[in-house]
Amino acid sequence: HARMMPMARSEMLRTVEQAGLRAMIKQTGTLDLYDSEASLNAASDDWQAKLKAGFEFQRVGRDEIDSLQPGLAPQFRHGIFTPSGLQVSDPLEFTQALFSNAMSRGASLRIGEVVRIEPINDGARVILADGAVFEAKTVVLAGGAWSKKIVTGLGDHAPLETERGYNTTLPPGAFPLHRQLYFNDHGFVVTPLSSGIRVGGAVELGGLKLAPNYKRSEAMLTKAKSFLPDLKTEGGRQWMGFRPSMPDCLPVISASTASPAIIYAFGHGHLGLTQSAATGRLVADIAARREPALDVEPYSISRFR
Ligand SMILES: Cc1cc2nc3c(=O)[nH]c(=O)nc-3n(C[C@H](O)[C@H](O)[C@H](O)COP(=O)(O)OP(=O)(O)OC[C@H]3O[C@@H](n4cnc5c(N)ncnc54)[C@H](O)[C@@H]3O)c2cc1C
Repeated sequence: HARMMPMARSEMLRTVEQAGLRAMIKQTGTLDLYDSEASLNAASDDWQAKLKAGFEFQRVGRDEIDSLQPGLAPQFRHGIFTPSGLQVSDPLEFTQALFSNAMSRGASLRIGEVVRIEPINDGARVILADGAVFEAKTVVLAGGAWSKKIVTGLGDHAPLETERGYNTTLPPGAFPLHRQLYFNDHGFVVTPLSSGIRVGGAVELGGLKLAPNYKRSEAMLTKAKSFLPDLKTEGGRQWMGFRPSMPDCLPVISASTASPAIIYAFGHGHLGLTQSAATGRLVADIAARREPALDVEPYSISRFR
Protein backbone atom coordinates (compact mmCIF):
# COMPACT_ATOMS: atom_id res chain seq x y z
CA HIS A 1 0.00 0.00 0.00
CA ALA A 2 2.92 2.35 0.66
CA ARG A 3 3.42 2.61 -3.13
CA MET A 4 -0.16 3.56 -3.85
CA MET A 5 -0.97 5.90 -0.97
CA PRO A 6 0.63 9.12 -2.33
CA MET A 7 -1.21 8.54 -5.60
CA ALA A 8 -4.43 7.71 -3.74
CA ARG A 9 -4.28 11.14 -2.17
CA SER A 10 -3.30 13.13 -5.28
CA GLU A 11 -5.80 11.36 -7.56
CA MET A 12 -8.60 11.76 -5.00
CA LEU A 13 -7.89 15.49 -4.68
CA ARG A 14 -7.69 15.87 -8.46
CA THR A 15 -10.95 13.97 -8.93
CA VAL A 16 -12.89 15.99 -6.36
CA GLU A 17 -11.54 19.29 -7.78
CA GLN A 18 -12.67 18.25 -11.26
CA ALA A 19 -16.08 17.19 -10.01
CA GLY A 20 -16.54 20.32 -7.88
CA LEU A 21 -16.71 18.21 -4.70
CA ARG A 22 -13.69 19.56 -2.81
CA ALA A 23 -15.95 20.69 0.05
CA MET A 24 -16.82 17.04 0.74
CA ILE A 25 -13.21 16.18 1.68
CA LYS A 26 -12.00 17.49 5.01
CA GLN A 27 -8.48 17.50 6.39
CA THR A 28 -9.25 17.16 10.07
CA GLY A 29 -6.43 14.69 10.73
CA THR A 30 -6.73 11.35 12.48
CA LEU A 31 -6.02 10.44 16.10
CA ASP A 32 -4.84 6.89 16.81
CA LEU A 33 -5.34 5.93 20.45
CA TYR A 34 -3.71 3.14 22.44
CA ASP A 35 -4.64 1.70 25.83
CA SER A 36 -1.05 1.74 27.04
CA GLU A 37 2.45 2.79 26.12
CA ALA A 38 3.31 -0.89 25.62
CA SER A 39 0.63 -1.32 22.94
CA LEU A 40 1.73 1.86 21.16
CA ASN A 41 5.31 0.58 21.22
CA ALA A 42 4.13 -2.78 19.90
CA ALA A 43 2.72 -0.95 16.85
CA SER A 44 6.02 0.77 16.08
CA ASP A 45 6.69 -1.35 12.95
CA ASP A 46 3.41 -0.10 11.42
CA TRP A 47 4.34 3.50 12.15
CA GLN A 48 7.86 3.02 10.79
CA ALA A 49 6.31 1.70 7.58
CA LYS A 50 4.03 4.74 7.40
CA LEU A 51 7.01 7.04 7.97
CA LYS A 52 8.82 5.37 5.08
CA ALA A 53 5.71 5.85 2.93
CA GLY A 54 5.82 9.60 3.56
CA PHE A 55 3.20 9.96 6.29
CA GLU A 56 3.85 12.74 8.80
CA PHE A 57 2.61 12.27 12.34
CA GLN A 58 3.47 13.00 15.95
CA ARG A 59 3.29 11.06 19.19
CA VAL A 60 0.89 12.70 21.65
CA GLY A 61 0.31 12.41 25.41
CA ARG A 62 -2.78 13.08 27.48
CA ASP A 63 -2.65 16.90 27.33
CA GLU A 64 -2.48 16.95 23.54
CA ILE A 65 -5.10 14.19 23.31
CA ASP A 66 -7.40 16.33 25.47
CA SER A 67 -7.01 19.33 23.22
CA LEU A 68 -7.44 17.25 20.03
CA GLN A 69 -10.52 15.53 21.45
CA PRO A 70 -12.02 16.45 24.81
CA GLY A 71 -14.17 13.88 26.59
CA LEU A 72 -12.09 10.69 26.28
CA ALA A 73 -11.89 8.19 29.16
CA PRO A 74 -8.76 8.57 31.34
CA GLN A 75 -6.95 5.44 30.09
CA PHE A 76 -6.10 7.11 26.76
CA ARG A 77 -2.73 8.69 27.49
CA HIS A 78 -0.83 7.46 24.42
CA GLY A 79 -1.64 8.29 20.84
CA ILE A 80 -0.46 9.38 17.43
CA PHE A 81 -1.85 12.35 15.57
CA THR A 82 -1.66 12.46 11.77
CA PRO A 83 -2.60 16.04 10.77
CA SER A 84 -2.78 15.29 7.02
CA GLY A 85 -5.54 12.68 7.44
CA LEU A 86 -8.41 13.24 5.01
CA GLN A 87 -11.98 12.06 5.30
CA VAL A 88 -15.13 12.34 3.23
CA SER A 89 -18.18 14.15 4.63
CA ASP A 90 -20.14 10.91 4.32
CA PRO A 91 -19.41 7.89 2.10
CA LEU A 92 -22.97 7.59 0.74
CA GLU A 93 -23.39 11.31 0.13
CA PHE A 94 -19.95 11.45 -1.52
CA THR A 95 -20.60 8.44 -3.77
CA GLN A 96 -23.98 9.82 -4.84
CA ALA A 97 -22.40 13.19 -5.65
CA LEU A 98 -19.72 11.48 -7.77
CA PHE A 99 -22.43 9.47 -9.49
CA SER A 100 -24.44 12.62 -10.32
CA ASN A 101 -21.28 14.23 -11.66
CA ALA A 102 -20.59 11.23 -13.91
CA MET A 103 -24.19 11.33 -15.18
CA SER A 104 -23.88 15.04 -15.96
CA ARG A 105 -20.79 14.19 -18.08
CA GLY A 106 -22.64 11.66 -20.20
CA ALA A 107 -22.49 8.41 -18.21
CA SER A 108 -25.57 6.18 -18.30
CA LEU A 109 -26.79 3.61 -15.76
CA ARG A 110 -28.26 0.19 -16.28
CA ILE A 111 -28.96 -1.91 -13.17
CA GLY A 112 -28.85 -5.69 -13.51
CA GLU A 113 -27.05 -8.82 -12.38
CA VAL A 114 -24.06 -9.73 -14.51
CA VAL A 115 -23.70 -13.48 -14.88
CA ARG A 116 -20.86 -13.67 -17.38
CA ILE A 117 -18.33 -11.60 -19.30
CA GLU A 118 -16.84 -12.94 -22.53
CA PRO A 119 -14.14 -11.69 -24.87
CA ILE A 120 -15.24 -10.92 -28.44
CA ASN A 121 -13.24 -9.87 -31.48
CA ASP A 122 -13.12 -6.16 -30.79
CA GLY A 123 -13.91 -5.91 -27.07
CA ALA A 124 -16.08 -7.84 -24.64
CA ARG A 125 -19.65 -8.97 -24.07
CA VAL A 126 -21.56 -8.69 -20.78
CA ILE A 127 -24.46 -11.09 -20.18
CA LEU A 128 -27.09 -10.23 -17.57
CA ALA A 129 -29.30 -12.62 -15.58
CA ASP A 130 -32.38 -11.28 -17.43
CA GLY A 131 -30.80 -12.30 -20.73
CA ALA A 132 -29.78 -8.81 -21.85
CA VAL A 133 -26.42 -8.61 -23.63
CA PHE A 134 -24.11 -5.60 -23.95
CA GLU A 135 -21.02 -5.27 -26.07
CA ALA A 136 -18.27 -2.74 -25.47
CA LYS A 137 -14.70 -1.99 -26.49
CA THR A 138 -13.63 -2.22 -22.82
CA VAL A 139 -15.41 -3.80 -19.85
CA VAL A 140 -14.30 -3.17 -16.26
CA LEU A 141 -15.24 -5.73 -13.63
CA ALA A 142 -15.54 -3.87 -10.29
CA GLY A 143 -17.89 -6.23 -8.48
CA GLY A 144 -16.28 -5.98 -5.04
CA ALA A 145 -16.48 -9.18 -2.97
CA TRP A 146 -18.79 -10.73 -5.59
CA SER A 147 -16.23 -10.61 -8.42
CA LYS A 148 -14.86 -14.13 -8.01
CA LYS A 149 -17.44 -16.10 -10.00
CA ILE A 150 -17.06 -13.92 -13.07
CA VAL A 151 -13.26 -14.01 -12.82
CA THR A 152 -13.36 -17.81 -12.59
CA GLY A 153 -15.64 -17.87 -15.65
CA LEU A 154 -12.92 -16.03 -17.54
CA GLY A 155 -10.34 -18.69 -16.61
CA ASP A 156 -8.51 -16.56 -14.02
CA HIS A 157 -7.89 -17.36 -10.35
CA ALA A 158 -8.79 -14.85 -7.62
CA PRO A 159 -8.55 -16.09 -4.01
CA LEU A 160 -10.98 -13.34 -3.03
CA GLU A 161 -12.68 -13.47 0.36
CA THR A 162 -14.83 -11.01 2.25
CA GLU A 163 -13.94 -9.38 5.56
CA ARG A 164 -17.35 -8.31 6.76
CA GLY A 165 -17.48 -5.12 8.80
CA TYR A 166 -20.13 -3.55 11.00
CA ASN A 167 -21.11 -0.14 12.21
CA THR A 168 -23.75 1.95 13.95
CA THR A 169 -24.49 5.50 12.83
CA LEU A 170 -25.79 7.63 15.69
CA PRO A 171 -27.67 10.91 15.16
CA PRO A 172 -25.46 13.98 14.48
CA GLY A 173 -25.77 15.34 18.05
CA ALA A 174 -24.57 12.10 19.67
CA PHE A 175 -21.13 13.51 20.56
CA PRO A 176 -19.07 16.66 19.81
CA LEU A 177 -16.46 14.72 17.82
CA HIS A 178 -13.63 16.81 16.33
CA ARG A 179 -12.02 14.21 14.13
CA GLN A 180 -11.77 10.50 13.40
CA LEU A 181 -10.61 8.45 16.42
CA TYR A 182 -8.99 5.03 15.99
CA PHE A 183 -9.20 2.73 19.00
CA ASN A 184 -6.37 0.56 17.80
CA ASP A 185 -6.41 -1.98 20.61
CA HIS A 186 -10.08 -2.66 19.93
CA GLY A 187 -10.39 -2.73 16.12
CA PHE A 188 -12.85 0.09 15.65
CA VAL A 189 -13.10 3.74 14.69
CA VAL A 190 -15.42 6.60 15.61
CA THR A 191 -15.98 9.09 12.77
CA PRO A 192 -17.87 12.41 12.52
CA LEU A 193 -19.98 12.33 9.33
CA SER A 194 -22.57 14.75 7.98
CA SER A 195 -25.13 11.99 8.62
CA GLY A 196 -24.05 11.42 12.24
CA ILE A 197 -21.43 9.79 14.43
CA ARG A 198 -20.35 6.42 13.02
CA VAL A 199 -18.94 3.72 15.29
CA GLY A 200 -17.57 0.99 13.08
CA GLY A 201 -14.96 -1.62 12.32
CA ALA A 202 -14.61 -5.35 13.10
CA VAL A 203 -13.59 -8.15 10.77
CA GLU A 204 -15.83 -11.18 10.35
CA LEU A 205 -14.91 -13.99 7.95
CA GLY A 206 -18.49 -15.02 7.24
CA GLY A 207 -18.69 -15.23 3.45
CA LEU A 208 -21.33 -13.65 1.24
CA LYS A 209 -24.46 -15.43 2.49
CA LEU A 210 -24.41 -15.61 6.30
CA ALA A 211 -26.98 -13.31 7.98
CA PRO A 212 -25.49 -10.26 9.73
CA ASN A 213 -24.70 -10.63 13.42
CA TYR A 214 -25.45 -7.13 14.75
CA LYS A 215 -24.16 -8.11 18.18
CA ARG A 216 -20.85 -6.98 16.69
CA SER A 217 -22.24 -3.46 16.11
CA GLU A 218 -23.62 -3.48 19.65
CA ALA A 219 -20.30 -4.62 21.16
CA MET A 220 -18.44 -1.73 19.47
CA LEU A 221 -21.09 0.74 20.60
CA THR A 222 -20.83 -0.46 24.21
CA LYS A 223 -17.06 -0.01 24.10
CA ALA A 224 -17.38 3.41 22.44
CA LYS A 225 -19.65 4.50 25.28
CA SER A 226 -17.04 3.47 27.85
CA PHE A 227 -14.29 5.28 25.91
CA LEU A 228 -16.42 8.42 25.31
CA PRO A 229 -18.66 8.50 28.41
CA ASP A 230 -20.85 11.37 27.13
CA LEU A 231 -21.70 9.53 23.88
CA LYS A 232 -25.47 9.32 23.41
CA THR A 233 -26.04 5.80 22.14
CA GLU A 234 -29.77 6.04 21.34
CA GLY A 235 -31.30 6.19 17.87
CA GLY A 236 -28.51 4.45 15.96
CA ARG A 237 -28.75 2.72 12.57
CA GLN A 238 -26.85 -0.56 12.19
CA TRP A 239 -25.12 -1.75 9.03
CA MET A 240 -22.96 -4.61 7.77
CA GLY A 241 -20.77 -4.40 4.67
CA PHE A 242 -18.55 -6.74 2.65
CA ARG A 243 -14.92 -5.72 2.30
CA PRO A 244 -13.44 -7.45 -0.76
CA SER A 245 -10.11 -8.83 0.44
CA MET A 246 -7.17 -10.62 -1.13
CA PRO A 247 -4.71 -12.77 0.88
CA ASP A 248 -1.81 -10.35 0.30
CA CYS A 249 -3.99 -7.30 1.11
CA LEU A 250 -3.36 -5.80 -2.34
CA PRO A 251 -6.12 -5.14 -4.88
CA VAL A 252 -6.39 -6.65 -8.33
CA ILE A 253 -6.02 -3.89 -10.95
CA SER A 254 -5.23 -5.80 -14.07
CA ALA A 255 -6.24 -6.81 -17.55
CA SER A 256 -7.72 -10.31 -17.55
CA THR A 257 -5.67 -13.08 -19.12
CA ALA A 258 -8.68 -13.79 -21.37
CA SER A 259 -8.54 -10.39 -23.09
CA PRO A 260 -6.97 -6.93 -22.67
CA ALA A 261 -10.49 -5.58 -23.22
CA ILE A 262 -11.63 -7.00 -19.84
CA ILE A 263 -10.11 -5.18 -16.87
CA TYR A 264 -10.38 -6.18 -13.23
CA ALA A 265 -10.63 -3.64 -10.38
CA PHE A 266 -11.53 -5.32 -7.09
CA GLY A 267 -10.06 -6.64 -3.84
CA HIS A 268 -9.31 -3.34 -2.09
CA GLY A 269 -10.21 -4.70 1.35
CA HIS A 270 -10.22 -1.96 3.99
CA LEU A 271 -9.09 0.75 1.58
CA GLY A 272 -11.53 0.76 -1.32
CA LEU A 273 -12.75 4.29 -0.83
CA THR A 274 -9.25 5.63 -0.12
CA GLN A 275 -7.79 4.02 -3.23
CA SER A 276 -10.79 4.51 -5.52
CA ALA A 277 -9.54 7.49 -7.52
CA ALA A 278 -6.05 6.00 -7.93
CA THR A 279 -7.64 2.76 -9.11
CA GLY A 280 -9.77 4.69 -11.60
CA ARG A 281 -6.64 6.32 -12.97
CA LEU A 282 -4.80 3.00 -13.31
CA VAL A 283 -7.81 1.34 -14.96
CA ALA A 284 -8.00 4.23 -17.45
CA ASP A 285 -4.28 3.81 -18.20
CA ILE A 286 -4.67 0.05 -18.75
CA ALA A 287 -7.75 0.60 -20.93
CA ALA A 288 -5.94 3.21 -23.05
CA ARG A 289 -2.95 0.79 -23.27
CA ARG A 290 -0.54 3.50 -22.12
CA GLU A 291 2.20 3.34 -19.47
CA PRO A 292 0.34 3.21 -16.11
CA ALA A 293 0.95 6.07 -13.66
CA LEU A 294 2.28 3.42 -11.23
CA ASP A 295 3.78 -0.01 -11.91
CA VAL A 296 0.71 -2.28 -11.78
CA GLU A 297 2.60 -5.58 -11.76
CA PRO A 298 1.98 -6.11 -7.98
CA TYR A 299 -1.77 -5.87 -8.68
CA SER A 300 -1.76 -8.41 -11.51
CA ILE A 301 -4.41 -11.15 -11.54
CA SER A 302 -1.62 -13.62 -12.42
CA ARG A 303 0.19 -13.25 -9.10
CA PHE A 304 -1.68 -16.18 -7.50
CA ARG A 305 -1.10 -18.68 -10.28
C1 LIG B 1 -17.43 -1.31 8.10
C2 LIG B 1 -16.57 -0.91 6.92
C3 LIG B 1 -15.77 0.22 7.03
C4 LIG B 1 -14.97 0.61 5.97
N1 LIG B 1 -14.21 1.76 6.10
C5 LIG B 1 -13.43 2.15 5.07
C6 LIG B 1 -12.67 3.35 5.18
O1 LIG B 1 -12.69 4.04 6.20
N2 LIG B 1 -11.91 3.72 4.12
C7 LIG B 1 -11.85 2.97 2.98
O2 LIG B 1 -11.12 3.35 2.07
N3 LIG B 1 -12.57 1.84 2.85
C8 LIG B 1 -13.35 1.41 3.87
N4 LIG B 1 -14.07 0.24 3.76
C9 LIG B 1 -13.85 -0.61 2.58
C10 LIG B 1 -14.63 -0.16 1.37
O3 LIG B 1 -15.99 -0.01 1.73
C11 LIG B 1 -14.46 -1.20 0.26
O4 LIG B 1 -13.10 -1.46 0.02
C12 LIG B 1 -15.12 -0.67 -1.02
O5 LIG B 1 -16.49 -0.46 -0.84
C13 LIG B 1 -14.90 -1.63 -2.18
O6 LIG B 1 -15.41 -0.98 -3.30
P1 LIG B 1 -15.79 -1.78 -4.60
O7 LIG B 1 -16.42 -0.77 -5.52
O8 LIG B 1 -14.64 -2.59 -5.07
O9 LIG B 1 -16.90 -2.85 -4.11
P2 LIG B 1 -18.34 -2.58 -3.57
O10 LIG B 1 -18.43 -1.26 -2.88
O11 LIG B 1 -18.73 -3.81 -2.80
O12 LIG B 1 -19.21 -2.48 -4.89
C14 LIG B 1 -19.37 -3.60 -5.74
C15 LIG B 1 -20.67 -3.40 -6.48
O13 LIG B 1 -20.80 -4.39 -7.48
C16 LIG B 1 -22.12 -4.88 -7.47
N5 LIG B 1 -22.11 -6.24 -8.01
C17 LIG B 1 -21.48 -7.32 -7.50
N6 LIG B 1 -21.68 -8.40 -8.29
C18 LIG B 1 -22.46 -8.00 -9.31
C19 LIG B 1 -23.02 -8.67 -10.44
N7 LIG B 1 -22.79 -9.96 -10.68
N8 LIG B 1 -23.78 -7.93 -11.28
C20 LIG B 1 -24.00 -6.61 -11.06
N9 LIG B 1 -23.49 -5.93 -10.00
C21 LIG B 1 -22.74 -6.62 -9.14
C22 LIG B 1 -22.53 -4.84 -6.01
O14 LIG B 1 -23.94 -4.84 -5.89
C23 LIG B 1 -21.91 -3.53 -5.57
O15 LIG B 1 -22.77 -2.44 -5.81
C24 LIG B 1 -14.92 -0.15 4.79
C25 LIG B 1 -15.75 -1.28 4.67
C26 LIG B 1 -16.56 -1.66 5.72
C27 LIG B 1 -17.43 -2.87 5.56
